[in-house]
Amino acid sequence: MTFFDVPWEVGKEATEAIGTSRNEVLEALWDWYLRTPGAELPERPPADLLEGLFSKWQAREDGIRELALTLACPTCKATSGPCLAGKAKKPKDDLIHRPRLAAATALYDAQQAGIHH
Ligand SMILES: [Zn+2]
Repeated sequence: MTFFDVPWEVGKEATEAIGTSRNEVLEALWDWYLRTPGAELPERPPADLLEGLFSKWQAREDGIRELALTLACPTCKATSGPCLAGKAKKPKDDLIHRPRLAAATALYDAQQAGIHH
């Protein structure tokens, strides 16, 4: 897991649910880290709230990847399945080029909005 895999959206919803924000939490952590007088660790969201948010996030990630595999990729020209890599243009497991993933994300969110409104 890299820094960029950290689901910031989960953090956004979690902090809002307990009446704060990501910025406020980060500032509180930083003050605590720097031993600013009076600084305290911020309150954490309840575990069951986080569990729900993470499974929702995971379902969205899975849905986006699944949808991406059905779209044509503007980068490698794959028409379905994993993206193509290397000189031989072979399908590479789990590879989805960024523009294809972005298109799938937009389509997925539009579909979800259509379902829920
Ligand atoms: Zn591709």
